[in-house]
Parts: sequence; C-alpha cells; structure tokens
Amino acid sequence: MEKTIVINSGSSSLKFKLFAIPDEEVLASGLIERIGIEGSAITIKYGAGEKFTSQEDVSDHKIAVDRLLALLEELGIVNDLNEITAVGHRVVAGGEYFKTSAVIDDKVIEQIDEIADFAPLHNPANLMGIKAFKKVLPDAFSLAAFDTSFHQSIPEENFLYSIPYEWYEQYGVRRYGAHGTSHRYVAQEAAKFLGKPLEELKLITCHLGAGSSICAVKDGKSFDTSMGFTPLTGVTMATRSGDIDVALLNYVMDKLGIKSLDEMLYILNNKSGLLGISGVSPDMRDILAAKNDNKRAKLALDIFVKNVVKYIGEYVAEMGGVDGIIFTAGIGENSVPVRQMVMQRLAYLGITCDDAANAANEDGYIATKDSKVAVLKISTDEELMIARDVEAFRNK
Ligand code: ADP
Repeated sequence: MEKTIVINSGSSSLKFKLFAIPDEEVLASGLIERIGIEGSAITIKYGAGEKFTSQEDVSDHKIAVDRLLALLEELGIVNDLNEITAVGHRVVAGGEYFKTSAVIDDKVIEQIDEIADFAPLHNPANLMGIKAFKKVLPDAFSLAAFDTSFHQSIPEENFLYSIPYEWYEQYGVRRYGAHGTSHRYVAQEAAKFLGKPLEELKLITCHLGAGSSICAVKDGKSFDTSMGFTPLTGVTMATRSGDIDVALLNYVMDKLGIKSLDEMLYILNNKSGLLGISGVSPDMRDILAAKNDNKRAKLALDIFVKNVVKYIGEYVAEMGGVDGIIFTAGIGENSVPVRQMVMQRLAYLGITCDDAANAANEDGYIATKDSKVAVLKISTDEELMIARDVEAFRNK
C-alpha cells in the first residue's frame, strides 16, 4: 500500500503523520524535539496504541529525517521506505506567490526562501525539512501546503491596511492570515454536516488554540480573517496580544526604558494575551480553573470570549449573514464552557446553546436544532488536509 508522510518542521522540532493512501488511515505519528539542542527526544505512536520514545542526540534536521525513516523501518511501520511515495510539507508563509499548495521544485524552494521575512521563525525551518527529505527520498512526490494560501482569495478591501498603498505595492505589506489549512479543512467538513455545497454557504470558522484566528468563509473561499501581516493580531491568544494600538509601543518603551522594538515584539508575542492579562497562565484550562478566585483570570476569559464574539459579529456584517459557525483547535474542540459563553452572546443571531450536545464534546451540532444559525464543533486535521492535497496534486 502507498504511504504519504506529512511533515511540520519547526526550528528545533519535526512533527510527522504517516498515512496509508487511499484509506487515509494514520499508521504512525510523532515528534522529534529539541533538534540541535541538548536533550533531543523522539516520540512515535503507531500500531494499536504502541509508543516508542527515546532520548538521543539529534543534531540537525537531516539527521532527524534519517533517524525517523530508519525507525519507521525498525518498528515495522513500513517494510521498505519506497512505500513512502509522497511527502507533504507544511509551510507557514507563502506570501502572494502561492494561492494553492505547490509541487516542490527549485523555484518553489527559492520563493519560500525569498519570503522568509514574513515568517522568520518558521519558513527557514520548513525549508530545512524540505531539503532533508529531498536528500533522503529524492524520488518521492513532494508538495508544500502553505498556511496563507487559503487566504489568498481575500478581496483587496479586506486585506489592505489603511496605510500608504505603496507599502503594499513595493514591500507586500498586507494581511496574509494564518491557520489556512485548518480553516479550509473545517469549512469543508462543515459543508458535509450541513448537506450543502461549500460554495453556497457563509461560514465563520473559529480556530481557537494557543494561537487563535477567525475566518469568514464565503462562496467556499476565505473572505476575511483576524490574523494579519503576521500571526500576532486578531483575537487574544495564549501569549500573543491580538489587536493593539501600535502607538502604545513608543509610550511603553519610554516608560520601561526598553530600547529595541524587537524586545517589544517579543513581549507582545510571548508575554501578553491570556498570560499577560491573568498573570496566571497562558493555558485556557488554568484560566478556567482560576476564574472564580482570581479577578484577572476571569478578565482574561471575558476578554477572550468578547474578542471571539466581536469578530463573529464583524464577519456576519461583512458577509451579510451567516449559515454556520464552527469551533475548532485546542480550545474550540475541548472547552465546553468557552463554547457555551460564546454561544450565549450570539443569542441575537437566533442561536441557543444545546447544553447536552455541547457537553458531549463530539464533532457535530452544538446549538439547538431550531437555532437560526448552525453551530458545530469540528476537530481540525491539518495533516489529513495536506495528505488530501498531495493526492489531488499528484493526480492532476
Ligand atoms: P496550537 O496548535 O496553536 O499550539 P492547540 O490547537 O493544540 O494549539 O491548542 C492548545 C491550547 O488548547 C492550549 O493552550 C490549551 O489552553 C487549550 N486547551 C486544550 N484542552 C483544553 C480544554 N479542555 N479546555 C480549555 N482549553 C483547552
């Protein structure tokens, strides 16, 4: 049976999922972490609940890929590496070059490199993964799936900032968005639940995880999204600020004696959001546990919920209505109270939370059947979406 491996490589990690094709069965998944750092570790889940773990030196991405492939053979997950006929790579930034996924060739590699500034922590790491696999499996079909490409359909009036137009023309300054593969996947799954072609639906997909973004999906395409030029903006996140007035930077730098903008951006990316407001934790589970005794934890929760409600309202207005609202990712898939709080504030749309369905935490409808807008919880699966893209492009 043919197999497709989907790779998500970070600067010091490499996550993978191995699929049997065409059944889409997950044969193995896992993570190599702390690549190039002391204390590297490998975890592979496979078979009927079996797990391999090892602490061993993994000094770069090429060695990580070699070791991963050797382990797939050693653990009997594949009999021969030639069974892996395709590799799908997650790439964070595709700029304006990539409106869909792309078959990887030298030009695509050059372009991913060229726009590294749009995702300086991610694109170079993604490229390391691509190059390492090219060396080890040179004949495998290889595809890049970009987090930004789904959002390339956003119209100009929604992707442009109100700043000098030349900044866009000359330097590509605009909204690119993120989590595109996840928004695309859950929108497609939602259309199946609703029994209508995606192209005929107005959906709002809420990817609420450590990073959160909300997307308006109209006519089957991304129409607007809450993340911007970078994934810093939009709703409050675990440690990212979401939307702020940039004019406060100068003021705070002066007050705190901070000299560099990089340091400010570090704080906005890593010390803000739920963590910054609550002072308790970046993890929504801790915020929920602390909210009754800790005013700032309650405030963090309320601000998060308010932001989700605000973006939903904005997108209902922009699209002139909505047929379905979808919750996904870590918080969206698991937090019964957060979904309930958001739905309670959407009563004005004719939505009533179905408390039993919401508490059951299964994929499917979580608002009452007589609600005017369908509300669904759908588990995202970016890797499966990428594996499906691999098939679609391979059969083109
Ligand atoms: P990312 O892919 O952005 O790293 P995930 O989508 O995996 O993040 O989401 C991780 C987040 O999900 C964690 O920050 C955690 O707060 C949240 N989360 C996971 N389970 C729950 C839960 N049961 N209740 C509330 N939040 C949860």
